[in-house]
Amino acid sequence: MTIQYADLLTIGAGGGAYPAAFRLARAGRSVVMVDPKGVMSGNCLYEGCVPSKAVRETAEIYQSQRRFAERGLPGTVTVDFAKIMAHKDSIQARRYQQHAADLAATPNIQMIQGEARFITPHEVAVDTADGGRRFRCAQVIIASGSDVFIPPVPGSEFCLTSHDLYKPDAALKTLPERMIVIGGGYIGLETATFFAALGTRVTLLQKGGQLLNGMDPGMVALLTPLLDPSIRILTGVDVTAVDVTPEGGRRVHYTHGEEDDTLDGDVVLMAVGRRPVIPAGAAEIGIAVTRKGVAVGADLQTAHPHIYACGDVNGRVPLFHAAVRQSMVAAHNILGGNISMDYADFHHIPTTIFTLPAAAYVGITPALAEAQGIPLRTGRYDFEEDSRAQILERMEGGIQLFFAADSLRLLGGWVVGIDAGHLIGQIGTAAAHGLTAYDLARFADQHPMSAEGIGKAARSLF
Ligand code: ADP
Repeated sequence: MTIQYADLLTIGAGGGAYPAAFRLARAGRSVVMVDPKGVMSGNCLYEGCVPSKAVRETAEIYQSQRRFAERGLPGTVTVDFAKIMAHKDSIQARRYQQHAADLAATPNIQMIQGEARFITPHEVAVDTADGGRRFRCAQVIIASGSDVFIPPVPGSEFCLTSHDLYKPDAALKTLPERMIVIGGGYIGLETATFFAALGTRVTLLQKGGQLLNGMDPGMVALLTPLLDPSIRILTGVDVTAVDVTPEGGRRVHYTHGEEDDTLDGDVVLMAVGRRPVIPAGAAEIGIAVTRKGVAVGADLQTAHPHIYACGDVNGRVPLFHAAVRQSMVAAHNILGGNISMDYADFHHIPTTIFTLPAAAYVGITPALAEAQGIPLRTGRYDFEEDSRAQILERMEGGIQLFFAADSLRLLGGWVVGIDAGHLIGQIGTAAAHGLTAYDLARFADQHPMSAEGIGKAARSLF
């Protein structure tokens, strides 16, 4: 087999890969991107952020329509699930087209549909439908992402996963009457709220005591009472098996304390976490892999200075936008000759739980501050008094900003409720760039937009 040469080969073509691929290609390097999907943008567009938000936003529109209808405003509320899913598919198709056009317009990049594996630190084999190719690579970016973790529970094959639910032409064609969600992490909880808003009776089974385990309990405590009360949440539940009922539905067997019990639903979503996907041969060539993923520092370099690992595969901050920034860091360090000149900031990544309503956070929040002994002062703003929230009849929740008690430098914040996913970006920018409560208090935020609450939260300190 002839061995081809690439200045850069990316394993995967998602957010951890393609920003660097484009950056290096534009700098004149020869770039090969390898992905089994044969298209750019990884799991984010295929089954993650984008399709799930297409469903979320339509569910939120139904929820708002229903609220207005309850207040006597005209408008009929009928949920057409097939149309929601068709909308989701059309967004995915449109974005795939857009990415294909970007790829076609960029010289020096080859996209190969296949699976990459390491032979040596500089040699990568790509298994394709027509046999395979082999590359000698000056640089490699491992950006193989993460996939759904399926626990060893008998009958888990009878469950849907987020992959089944959100992929193009998804498995679920009609709105289920009853859905059981296993897992109270962000994917399970988000999906539970979307389907509840569309009219499905949802039961969520959570193993631990707290929903959104690992997130600040203070934020979770503000969010939980705002979730659709029709969602039945059982915590401290251990699922032992799933099987099929004689009618073709699903039955979940679980233990709750000393009790064994079962629950029937039309569909079951298994959402107990994701795990990194490590390319074959990585360990053999000396890439250090922990339970979280490929070990990297803030320069994204692995034990081999010419091999980088960006995105979900390194387990640092498994979010698409974090992967994109990491990919650019890797590109800059590659262009600098593998001498670290750029570093990822893992601490100021805005994170949104896209439940209805949403919750979002960034930086240092009280639980972390307490663990690290950092004294905080908190600025607060309640959406009850917010003009936009009042206009939209969505006054639940609010903004909290966390400042260093001595300097009043913004360290972090959270938003629960309206526009959380937008507002947290502005708060994150301010925190990442060292702004203080004085800076935020002096900024003329736009009225009547929810962002004016950021300045008001800062001014609540004075
Ligand atoms: P990230 O946003 O961290 O880049 P994604 O999960 O969105 O991660 O994308 C990772 C992509 O890498 C997925 O499309 C996945 O199919 C692909 N992939 C996983 N393993 C390999 C491999 N061995 N070779 C090539 N591509 C891979």
